[in-house]
Formats: sequence, structure tokens, C-alpha cells
Amino acid sequence: MGGIPLAAMHRLGEAVLALDGDAFLTLRFDRHDSCLGQVRGTIEARVQMRCQRCLQPAELELRIPVALGIVRSEAEAERLPGDLDPLLLDDDRCRLSDLVEDELLLALPVVAMHVKDAPECLPGKTEFKSEGSIDSGKSDVKRPFDVLASLKKDH
Ligand SMILES: [Zn+2]
Repeated sequence: MGGIPLAAMHRLGEAVLALDGDAFLTLRFDRHDSCLGQVRGTIEARVQMRCQRCLQPAELELRIPVALGIVRSEAEAERLPGDLDPLLLDDDRCRLSDLVEDELLLALPVVAMHVKDAPECLPGKTEFKSEGSIDSGKSDVKRPFDVLASLKKDH
């Protein structure tokens, strides 16, 4: 079906380090007996999150299977079969980009990491470069020299 620009997804933008390109959809709309219609397919997108092992950006490929039943009310949603999640139409409008953004947000891992044994993922190596420790890092920088100085005094 084509792409939806990720840059327009502000809620998703707040949850990740960087968004790259488009979300790609392969969705199929079909009739369904118990709702207005069903949507099945996959959403694919690439985002960057901070790897919790090395604290560097890690690119994640998201591939999310979707199975939705289009409904107009909560009551209709309750009648959906178990394999369909409700997609509630708001004022007879259904904004596809909102749906895709919701699905991507739900699919983000709680703890992001590089794939196992990735060469760029070296735990501990870049700890002092992480943004959060810039201020406190300044006082830490002197410490190795202080230690050296005190060793020299002892001799
Ligand atoms: Zn890593």
C-alpha cells in the first residue's frame, strides 16, 4: 500500500531516538460478518532506540502483524471474534497514520538492545560519553590523575 512518513508521528518521535523514512504497510481490507470490515497485514518500520547494553543508538526493525476489525462503538467491539482487535471509527473517520503510530508504539521494546554479539555493541566502553553524565563526568575526569599524584607522593 505504500509508506507513511514516520517524521509526522510525534508521539512515536518522543519514544525513540530517531525515526528513519517511512512506515511500510501491506494491509488488506476485507468484509467481515461481525463488523464493518477487517484489516489484516503487516506494518514495517525502522527506528533508533538507545541500546541498554552499550548506551549507543541501535537501529530496530519493527515488523508488526495486524488483525483489526473496524467498529463504530464499544458494543460492536465486544462482538468481535478473538483474533481481531477493535479499530474504533472516530466520527466516521479512521486515520490510518494514527492506527499505524499506535501499533508502532505498542511494538516498541521496553528495553532496546543491539542484536546479540553485534561488533558495535561494547558494554561499558562508552559509559562516560553518555549524555546524562556530562556534568558529573567533569569531576570524575580528574580522579585518575589525583590517584597518580597520590601514588607519586608515597614514593
Ligand atoms: Zn549496544
